[in-house]
Amino acid sequence: MSAQDRTAAGFRAGLHDDAPWLNDLRRRRTAGPRSAHNRRVDPAAGLSTVAVHGGTYEDPVTGAVGTPIFQTSTFLLDELSYTAFAQGATRDVPIYTRYGNPSQWSVQEKAAALEGAESAVVTSSGMSAIAATVYALTNSGSHIITAHDVYGGTYNLMREDMPSAGREVTFVDPTELTAIADAIRPETQLLFFEGLTNPLLKAPPLRAIARLARANDALLVVDGTLLSPVNLKPLNLGADIVVHSATKYLNGHSDVTAGIVAGSRKFTDRIWAQALRFGGTLEPLACFLLERGLKTLQVRMRAHNENATALAAFLDAHEKVTTVHHPSLAQYPYGHLRDDVLLGYGGMVSFELAGGDEASLKFMDAVRVPYPATSLGGVESLVSLPVNTSHCSLTNAQRARAGINPGLVRYSVGIEDIADIIADTRQALERI
Ligand SMILES: *Cc1c(COP(=O)(O)O)cnc(C)c1O
Repeated sequence: MSAQDRTAAGFRAGLHDDAPWLNDLRRRRTAGPRSAHNRRVDPAAGLSTVAVHGGTYEDPVTGAVGTPIFQTSTFLLDELSYTAFAQGATRDVPIYTRYGNPSQWSVQEKAAALEGAESAVVTSSGMSAIAATVYALTNSGSHIITAHDVYGGTYNLMREDMPSAGREVTFVDPTELTAIADAIRPETQLLFFEGLTNPLLKAPPLRAIARLARANDALLVVDGTLLSPVNLKPLNLGADIVVHSATKYLNGHSDVTAGIVAGSRKFTDRIWAQALRFGGTLEPLACFLLERGLKTLQVRMRAHNENATALAAFLDAHEKVTTVHHPSLAQYPYGHLRDDVLLGYGGMVSFELAGGDEASLKFMDAVRVPYPATSLGGVESLVSLPVNTSHCSLTNAQRARAGINPGLVRYSVGIEDIADIIADTRQALERI
């Protein structure tokens, strides 16, 4: 294919005749990267329309309705690629798949449209997205604030890798705004919080945290994994960047490991450059699966939200259950955030059984609908216990301080029929 042909196929979209170098602050930045054949939807369209159509690649050669899988590691060099090299704009033209590939662009365009972002980067895992983001947006000598109870992989990154890379980290309770404000220092560059914590489903006051970050020239990164853009739009609340483990709700079928970063192109260009140095690229075939999974995000999330709300209400009324954590419940301690921050309550429910860990182990053995497995966000229900998985290395006292009480069960509610989920939960509770 000649340079002329590739221009016709729309790959020139991100290049400028007068573009200064990538790291030049005067560089004009367009949304994307995208080709002229990535389908664009009206930003005012509903989320289902965006999920189905956004970013899909309309193949100019065959007219294929679905995005083709560009299963190649490299692309023909021609005038267009040399121009991209010369302009420092290798993110915008297909050259080498670790740098970019139309299969990645398609899923990135869809994810960006769902988040209301200018640009997105797809990565090989959620941790790859988080590591690239945190490294790219901080310098040695800087300071980061995050939560005591962030996802284990993120905690280890903050605890082990950041200090050895010259970044100091302060861990706070993510719901205590004054503790977050008190932790800010002149060298604070980044605040990193989750939209909803796991497994206790605490909701940090993200709007206020975003204002605090802005007032102190720090960036706010929000991990939206537990909620998805259907239930939380961090960029609308003032966050600079949203990251996801796309392994969970975004892909939704427990068959892909992937990550997403979305935000302004100014930041995603830096994160992209970091991700390609770390080598956290997502394979074209996995991009295809993720883009296909994303098409049903809105309908899946509606089912997850409804099922989890119904299961939480059932558990809350059951005598063998002492505590239930879910944002839909009247006693939810962060109720003031429900209308201000959350657009939906999510599919994760956690609860404590009266009989402690012995009872929760029996419950695990007795349930038939959910699989006993870690992870979350798939169409199938999953159930696991923090005591012998995510929090097994803690002592009982440390677990108690973290709010992980004996008998705590983590239930990622799938999209099965709610009558079946409740009947199964009822029979399992009867047997303990
Ligand atoms: C699973 C998860 C991650 C890590 O994602 P991977 O795709 O497993 O790398 C990060 N944050 C949260 C909140 C998660 O649940």
